[in-house]
Amino acid sequence: MQSHTATSDTRPLVIAVVGSGPRGISVLERLAVRTAAEAQTAAASGAAPRPVRVHLIDATEVGAGRVWRTDQDDWFTMNTVISQVTMYSGDPDGGPARPGAGPSLGQWIEERARTAGEELLGPDDYAPRVRYGEYLVDVYRTVVDALPEHVELVPVKGRVTAVRTGAGSGYLLSLDTAPHLLEADRVVLATGHPVNAPDAFEQEMLDFSTRVPGLHYLCGDSAADMPLDEDTIPAGSAVGIRGIGLSFYDVMLSLTVGRGGTFHPREDGTLEYRASGREPHIVAGSRSGLPIPARGRNQKEPNFSHKALFLTKDALESARAARRAAGGTGQLDFAEDVLPLLLQEVEHVYYVTHVRNARGAQAADAFAAEHAEALRAGRDRGELLASAGLAQVPPVDLDALARPFGDERFGSPEEFRERLLKVMDDDLAAAALGTLDGPLKSSLDVLRDIRNVVRLAVDFGGLLPESHTGFFHRKFLPVNALLSAGPPMYRVEQLRALIEQGVVEVAGPGTRFGTDEEAGGFLVESPQVAGSARVVRALIDARIPTPDLHRDTSPLTRQLLEEGMVRPYVIEGPAGSRFVTGGLEVTDSPFHVVDAHGVPRPDLYALGIPTEHTRWFTQVGSSRPGVNTLFYRDADAIAQDALRPLVVVRENEAAVAAAAPGGAG
Ligand SMILES: Cc1cc2nc3c(=O)[nH]c(=O)nc-3n(C[C@H](O)[C@H](O)[C@H](O)COP(=O)(O)OP(=O)(O)OC[C@H]3O[C@@H](n4cnc5c(N)ncnc54)[C@H](O)[C@@H]3O)c2cc1C
Repeated sequence: MQSHTATSDTRPLVIAVVGSGPRGISVLERLAVRTAAEAQTAAASGAAPRPVRVHLIDATEVGAGRVWRTDQDDWFTMNTVISQVTMYSGDPDGGPARPGAGPSLGQWIEERARTAGEELLGPDDYAPRVRYGEYLVDVYRTVVDALPEHVELVPVKGRVTAVRTGAGSGYLLSLDTAPHLLEADRVVLATGHPVNAPDAFEQEMLDFSTRVPGLHYLCGDSAADMPLDEDTIPAGSAVGIRGIGLSFYDVMLSLTVGRGGTFHPREDGTLEYRASGREPHIVAGSRSGLPIPARGRNQKEPNFSHKALFLTKDALESARAARRAAGGTGQLDFAEDVLPLLLQEVEHVYYVTHVRNARGAQAADAFAAEHAEALRAGRDRGELLASAGLAQVPPVDLDALARPFGDERFGSPEEFRERLLKVMDDDLAAAALGTLDGPLKSSLDVLRDIRNVVRLAVDFGGLLPESHTGFFHRKFLPVNALLSAGPPMYRVEQLRALIEQGVVEVAGPGTRFGTDEEAGGFLVESPQVAGSARVVRALIDARIPTPDLHRDTSPLTRQLLEEGMVRPYVIEGPAGSRFVTGGLEVTDSPFHVVDAHGVPRPDLYALGIPTEHTRWFTQVGSSRPGVNTLFYRDADAIAQDALRPLVVVRENEAAVAAAAPGGAG
């Protein structure tokens, strides 16, 4: 054990951050804020601060990472309005941009428009992803420039292929490029979206495409990284797309706008698509047959926060206490303990917005008080709704919204198309009313606004195993994602134009994807739409892969798993019930990785997507101006812990090693 202290230590504390997407940059930003504070404290006491070296490693692009790399096409857009996006942990304060105080994406774009003549976007606009990548790189450079003298940043463009314990304390990182080996005292894994090995269905499709010349099957990934060129998908050929969620829009744009097509407004407000002639014919489908609906027109300030009335921390604690009192573990049943409260939040906003629109703010406030009271007391609300003029207003029904076609049968693709266009038009009309004034979209926005409370219910095995897997994952999350994570309205308008003009065809509800040996192609068909069967030459999975340690093809993940440095998170329930998730197990904040023996590794952290399932909804790419977000707090907790003096670590490690079966290694 070393006897030096933080202030007397002259050997640099070495921190390796693996992955420089938004999560990696968020940790770097907080390291910068904290080391600047260290420098000030040291200066005040006349001592030299302990040197720190940070290796920031990314296989794709240091500063922006893979999803936001700055060499992608500009038709890929973000799905968050620019005023609600920031990578700085504090708002600008009139001084120069620096760690802890810098512009939001919206403010940065405004500044760039003023000073560099770049395109100006409004606060409620959606930026091309490449623009956010440039912003991230700018944040990265600003952070690097502002690092105090005792901190050295070493950017490394390369892939980490292994992380092993070093000879002394700390870790040895193997890279596929120079310097090939790196020593670090602390390692932060912020490796983001996985590339998974094909599942059984995908393997079958891949095998089929190898057997039959001219066929292509593309597994799910960021569309910017897919081979969507004319060699793979020739003009005029039929291409199937599996999934009509957010990534579908990316693929759709690559095959239309990316092929030279353009959209033009018509006098009636709809769009016309002018084809280039190089487009394929797109046949898309999904379980619901519904393209993900639009987000409401944004009306919320960047620092808007939803004040939960029903699904609160206290309510969850009461529910846990009730479960314990009944002999349980305190784990919740999502359908029984959480969903009813969540639906109350949604319904309450829905009805109050209706009243505000019809009768003004004062009447809405009075109604809100009575309605909330009735919901809490579990009273019948029929009379109250009728007296507020809401008797004829249909209730907001998430399942019906997510499956608008239900089991309905359609006599022909044309019949289904007419119905689909009507559903899309209704959705666009609802979205146009906005995220505050539109009863439907304001209520669905609650699903986004209340994610932090849902996390309290779900994270770290908060749900019973069967509830987590059977209900939360299989039933709730698909509906939740479909109704709350939509693209901007204009994307849906573009899709509408493409459907209307026959460039895109949606097969219908319950779409099946398979192979047609005789026809020598993939088959796309909805059993509910007569005549919908289409044979396509290429099939694209337009869904972002779910994190799953066991399917992750990354050499690093495989090595960590094989050598017992990490383990999948298991939700243990009462009476031996358990569910092995595909997420990497970490402790609660500051998210130490837990090894195969169940021992937390004090110097190894994991943040974001690899920890999905241990925690919920980690696919977040930014913080929000003026809000103390979890995104920021998570990064800060890791930065704080990673900067703790080495001497303390050594003691911890000795204790951990002694406690571990066979030593922690
Ligand atoms: C297509 C797409 C669009 C999205 N749009 C939005 C959006 O508009 N708004 C939003 O909030 N979220 C969006 N998301 C969600 C997304 O999860 C986040 O925006 C964000 O990218 C997550 O940040 P991250 O740093 O965790 O992961 P990533 O951005 O994936 O970054 C991880 C980085 O780690 C690197 N890496 C991985 N393994 C290694 C290794 N072994 N060695 C070295 N480097 C490695 C990768 O190259 C990558 O750059 C989108 C996601 C996708 C896939």
